[in-house]
Amino acid sequence: MWPGSSPESCEAMALPHGIPHVQELPVEGKRVFVRVDFNVPLSKDRKVSDDQRIRATLPTIQHLVDRGARIILASHLGRPDGQVKPEYSLEPVAARLAELLDRDVVLADEPVGDGARKVTGDLRDGQIALLENLRFHPGEEGNDEQFARTLASYADVYVNDAFGTAHRAHASTAGMVPFVPIKGAGFVMAKEIEFLTKLLGEVERPYLAVVGGAKVSDKIEVLDALLERVNAIAIGGAMANTFLKAQGKELAKSKVEEDKLAIARNFLRKASERGVTVYLPTDVVVAPGLDAEESSTVSVDQVPAGTMALDIGPATVEAYRKAVKDARTIFWNGPMGVFEKPRFAAGTVAIGRALADNRLALSVVGGGDSAAAVAQAGVADKVSHVSTGGGASLEFIQGLKLPGIEALIPKSRPSETRGTT
Ligand code: ADP
Ligand code: MG
Repeated sequence: MWPGSSPESCEAMALPHGIPHVQELPVEGKRVFVRVDFNVPLSKDRKVSDDQRIRATLPTIQHLVDRGARIILASHLGRPDGQVKPEYSLEPVAARLAELLDRDVVLADEPVGDGARKVTGDLRDGQIALLENLRFHPGEEGNDEQFARTLASYADVYVNDAFGTAHRAHASTAGMVPFVPIKGAGFVMAKEIEFLTKLLGEVERPYLAVVGGAKVSDKIEVLDALLERVNAIAIGGAMANTFLKAQGKELAKSKVEEDKLAIARNFLRKASERGVTVYLPTDVVVAPGLDAEESSTVSVDQVPAGTMALDIGPATVEAYRKAVKDARTIFWNGPMGVFEKPRFAAGTVAIGRALADNRLALSVVGGGDSAAAVAQAGVADKVSHVSTGGGASLEFIQGLKLPGIEALIPKSRPSETRGTT
């Protein structure tokens, strides 16, 4: 057995820094403010078109209902920029949530104010209120203290279950938390912290990162941070084009960040100094454009004029698949190609399946498009963890402190603190 790979203990893992899980909080008869992520897509006729994020919060809400808490839910939706814009109302979300729970959900017509105070004050044990879109008020994103204090005044207990916004210091994620005496993490947040924390500690090796997606510039900090921890990095997507170009390949019309070639070269040098293996594509799927009727597979040394690389090729898939098979810890961010188009989705789907097939590894997928890609590949439930937060998971993986998580850390801990063994 590899060092640091003790078998999973039966009891639930305690969260780092003594952050309490909602299950540990005294919530009976209390007014519990839950920051949730109900930032869901709406259809033209203003119905929730994908309710995954609402469903994800059900364990936390159901737990609070069962314990007789008075539940105050709060979320943002879209970018109303601090103004009341009816098209961003949480009304369709309240309706969907009520359906899913088969319970009444009372929507306050504003995030703060007399209406919100009355709705939250009138709650009885086990009842649920939803505040209107937090971003209808400029105090939310501005992290205004008065706004934060007002939100806090509605609650006895604060629970954060919105990992996707944990990297933002907003009133509902950070500003209000010190003004509520009791706080902790909901089920979604706790699972995110648990799995992502594992990647920052002692992991089973080899540790492989698979990184793709649109741009080197979006991800260079993530790549640099991964270099400190992993044994190998497999690069795909448009990002790989920039690395290939940095090695002198001609990539015709492919998406390349010409101004990032030096950064790419520097990264490859650092990786070789650290003894980290970097896999780059050896073949790619090329076409004249995204909507081309035909495509072909070519070596990265022979990309034809007038074409662009839009997916990794089969030889590259084989090499990456083998690396995934041999790994015991895997972090994946960023699709291997333009997976939104079926013609260029094969590389991404194959990597998703390879992750799913590796039953021995801890496999974590982070990133908005990456999460969509594993869902598309039909393997979302076969990897260890799919992070719900794009930006938040990438910041976490870099070892950065997330304001929404920091705020949950108890300030004065009892002297007999746990978790020091
Ligand atoms: P994530 O959201 O998981 O962090 P990114 O946003 O970085 O991922 O990248 C996803 C986008 O990258 C997708 O829209 C995909 O179409 C695009 N992409 C991947 N490979 C290529 C490529 N070879 N050429 C152009 N775009 C690509
Ligand atoms: Mg993206």
